[in-house]
Amino acid sequence: MTIIILFFIYGLIFGSFANVVISRTRSDEKLFLTWSHCPKCKKNIRWVDNIPVLSFVLLRGKCRYCAKKISWQYPVVESVVSIIFALIGYFYTVGSIGSLLNAILYSFVFASLVVVFVYDVKYMEIPMNAMWLAISLLFIINIFTDLNIGIFGINFWNSNTFLHSLSALVAFSFFFGLSYISDETWMGYGDAFVAIAIGLMLGPIGTFVALMIGFCVGAIVGVALIIIKGKTMKTAIPFGPFLIFGTLVMFVVQNLWPGFLNLFI
Ligand SMILES: [Zn+2]
Repeated sequence: MTIIILFFIYGLIFGSFANVVISRTRSDEKLFLTWSHCPKCKKNIRWVDNIPVLSFVLLRGKCRYCAKKISWQYPVVESVVSIIFALIGYFYTVGSIGSLLNAILYSFVFASLVVVFVYDVKYMEIPMNAMWLAISLLFIINIFTDLNIGIFGINFWNSNTFLHSLSALVAFSFFFGLSYISDETWMGYGDAFVAIAIGLMLGPIGTFVALMIGFCVGAIVGVALIIIKGKTMKTAIPFGPFLIFGTLVMFVVQNLWPGFLNLFI
């Protein structure tokens, strides 16, 4: 239980940092060593007004100085990241995720993916710095997972490192092809990099199911937007968030129910 609470608190802190990354990547500001300030009146935010989620509630969603509304993005991202971190802490305590190091690396992966998700929704663009971080960490996790099994015990062709990299390559080629054929109207090239992360995380079958979930939810939301908001098929909606949603669902399912993927074989 202690681990889960610790992960939850780390999640609040990294969720808060994720918000900083999202807004400062866009404005090209330094990520570290500059004080947080209100985007509207530019006044520096005191630490008491900068406590994840809690400050938003106490300030009733308004800046202390200019009383302009603070974006819902802040408490939502902080809550979502802390819930995902707490889940990862839980998966560690029940032993489905491997070592504590793996659990910590996974939490950084998901913090990056949340940044990608929000950034893509807001700006219709995949932030490549966060994407490369997630991809490299996932590659390292696969190597650690194989080393845990024991270097002499693994058959290379059956190793996570090989199978998950192969899934990443296939998923990347598929999305790269779709972007190329459609001249980036169906998918953007950025989505192909999200697909690499999915392949590395979930392996062959998990990747397939996660992509199916992403396509289905994307189609439903797309049609809903056309009906409700009068968007046309041409008003592009970003696809990265649906891919990341599918990935999170499969990650949770695989950890709660390790035998799940065998149902597909
Ligand atoms: Zn202000």
